[in-house]
Amino acid sequence: MTASRALHARSLSDPAGFWAEQAARIDWETPFERVLDDSRPPFARWFVGGRTNICHNAIDRHLSARADQRALVYVSTETDTERTYTYRELHDEVTRMAATLQGLGVQRGDRVLIYMPMIPEAMFAMLACTRIGAVHSVVFGGFASVSLAARIDDAKPRVIVSADAGSRAGKVVPYKPLLDEAIRLAGHHPEKVLLVDRKLAEMPLVSGRDQDYAAWRDKVAGQAVPCVWMESSEPSYVLYTSGTTGKPKGVQRDTGGYAVALATSMENIFCGKPGDTMFTASDIGWVVGHSYIVYGPLLAGMTTVMYEGTPIRPDGAILWKIVEQYGVNIMFSAPTAIRVLKKQDPALLKRHDLSSLRLLFLAGEPLDEPTARWIQGGIGKPVVDNYWQTESGWPIIAIQRGVEALPPKLGSPGVPAYGYDLRIVDEVTGEECPPNTKGVVAIDYPLPPGCMSTVWGDDDRFIRTYWSAVPNRQCYSTFDWGIRDEDGYVFILGRTDDVINVAGHRLGTREIEESLSSHPGVAEVAVVGVQDALKGQVAMGFCIARDAGRTATEADRMAFEGELMKTVEQQLGAVARPARVFFVNALPKTRSGKLLRRAIQAVAEGRDPGDLTTIEDPTALEQVKESLA
Ligand code: ATP
Ligand code: MG
Repeated sequence: MTASRALHARSLSDPAGFWAEQAARIDWETPFERVLDDSRPPFARWFVGGRTNICHNAIDRHLSARADQRALVYVSTETDTERTYTYRELHDEVTRMAATLQGLGVQRGDRVLIYMPMIPEAMFAMLACTRIGAVHSVVFGGFASVSLAARIDDAKPRVIVSADAGSRAGKVVPYKPLLDEAIRLAGHHPEKVLLVDRKLAEMPLVSGRDQDYAAWRDKVAGQAVPCVWMESSEPSYVLYTSGTTGKPKGVQRDTGGYAVALATSMENIFCGKPGDTMFTASDIGWVVGHSYIVYGPLLAGMTTVMYEGTPIRPDGAILWKIVEQYGVNIMFSAPTAIRVLKKQDPALLKRHDLSSLRLLFLAGEPLDEPTARWIQGGIGKPVVDNYWQTESGWPIIAIQRGVEALPPKLGSPGVPAYGYDLRIVDEVTGEECPPNTKGVVAIDYPLPPGCMSTVWGDDDRFIRTYWSAVPNRQCYSTFDWGIRDEDGYVFILGRTDDVINVAGHRLGTREIEESLSSHPGVAEVAVVGVQDALKGQVAMGFCIARDAGRTATEADRMAFEGELMKTVEQQLGAVARPARVFFVNALPKTRSGKLLRRAIQAVAEGRDPGDLTTIEDPTALEQVKESLA
C-alpha cells in the first residue's frame, strides 16, 4: 500500500485516533473530551469540549520562538506599497483592531462583516474577530451593493469593517458609496461602520455610525486584548460560496476542527514548514484566501504574502518578481490566472530567479492539460492541482506531497485526502460506481474537521441541499461529476447541473468544452445545453478565437464553426456535436473567474439570467446575446 493510501485508510478506520494526533498541532486551553460527536447526522462536531482560539494559534503561540520573523509581507502594485510585519508587529496590529471592535460593542458570537480591498487591515480584522470570538463574514471587495446587501441581511453584522476604496488594474474603485447604498438596500442595519482611509477616494462619514480607524488605532494603543477561548464547535466565520450555480450559501465554519485541519494540510498537502514563505495569489474574499493567505500559513509559523494587484501589471512577470524578492517557497493560484499569463510573452517566466520556489498549487476550476503543461514547463517546478470547495475549507482531492509524491496524472487533481470518505456514486441508486464509471463525487458521513458545520442560520438548508441529493445514501454531495480510475485517481468531469440531455444522451458540457479547446484556434470556450423542441436539449458553444482573423467575416466564422463541429464529432461522436458554435470576445464569469454557464444558458433560451450579482463583466453576457441574434 502506498503511504498516502495507508494514511487515508487509517484516517477512516480510526478517525478518533487519527484526528486526536493531528489536534496536537495546535494549543488547547482546555483539552477536548471527545474527538467526534456523530450522534446527530449529518451534523458532526469535532473535538467536543475542547477550548481553543484560532488567533492565539496563528499569532500568540509563535511569539516566544519567532516574534521577529516576518509573518506578513504585503505587496500592492496598485498603490506601489510594500510592507512587512513581524509576528510581534502583527500581534500589535491585530490587538489594536480587536480593541477597536470591542470598543464598538462587538462581543463573542456577534458577526462582523468585512468588505475590504486587499490591505493588511483586512487580515487584521479577520484575526481580530477570531481573537475576540466574533464571527467574521468577509465579502469579496469586488461585489457591488446588491450582492453586499444580500449578505448583510443574511449575516446580520453588528459592525461592518470597510475602506474608502479598492483599486483594480490602476483604477480606483470607491467602496464607501457602494457600502452606503448596500446598507440602504438591506433590511438589517449595522450599528457601526469602521473605515480604513487609504486616501484613495472621498470618505464622508455618517455621524454616529461611521468610525475612522486611524483615530481608534491610536486611541487603543497598548491596550491588551486576551484571546477568548472558544468551544471547538463555536463558529469562527461565515463565507458565502461563489454563486456559480445558484444563490450563494453561507458556509459556517467551526473553530477547533478548522484550525486542526489547516495545520495538518500545511504539512501533508502543502509541504510547508515553519519559517517558509507562502504566496497565495488569491483574494481574502474567497475560501482560498481565508485558508491559505490568512490562517494556514500563520498557524504553521510561516510567512504569508498578501498581494493586491493583477498578474499582468506592471507586466506579466510580477508574480515571479515577488517570488524572487521575498524568497517564496510555496505558491498557490488558480488556473484562470495562469490562462491570463499564457497570453503573455513566455520569456517573462524566465526573467526572475525562482530557485526558492518548490511547488505551485492550483485550484478553483478544472486545470486543463495544455495549461498545466505550459506553466510547468515554463517555470520548471511541479504544479499541483487540488480540488476542493468553499464548503470543505481545505483540499478534498490532491497529491499529498507531504506524505508522498505520488506521480501525478494530468487532468486529475490526485487521490482523496485523508479524512474524506470519498465515493463516486450513482445519482439514481446511490450505489458506489465501479472504476472508470462516471458518478457524483460524494463524501460519506461524517465530513472531516474543517468542513462546513452547517449553512449559516439554516440547518434545514444544509440537510436539504447537501445531504439529500443522492438517494439511499447518507452522503454529502459536492455537485460535481467525477470518475475514479483503477489506481484511485479521481478526475472531475464538471458540475452536476452542467449536464445536458440530447435526444436521450446525457452529455457533460465540460467534455464538449475540452474537445473544442483541443482545437489550436480556440482560446476559450463555454458550452451550454439549450432547450430544443425536437431533441430535448442541444449543445451550444460560445468560443473565443485565438486569432481574430479567423472570425472576421461571416464566411470565416462559418468555416471555423464547421471545423470545430468536426473536431467534436471525431473526438466524442456525432451526438455531442454542438448545434451551433458562436464567436465572442469575452465570456461571462464570476468575480472568482469561473464560467457562468447558467447565465449563458438563460440568455440562449431567451430567459432572464436571474441573479447576476457575482458576474465579473456584464458586457460579456451582452456579447453572448448579440452573437445569438
Ligand atoms: P456555488 O456553489 O455557489 O455555485 P462555486 O461552486 O463556484 O459556487 P466554490 O466553492 O468557490 O463555489 O467552488 C468550488 C467548485 O469549483 C467545485 O465544486 C468544483 O466545481 C470547482 N473546482 C474547484 N477546484 C477544482 C479543481 N481542481 N478541478 C476541477 N474543479 C474544481
Ligand atoms: Mg459549489
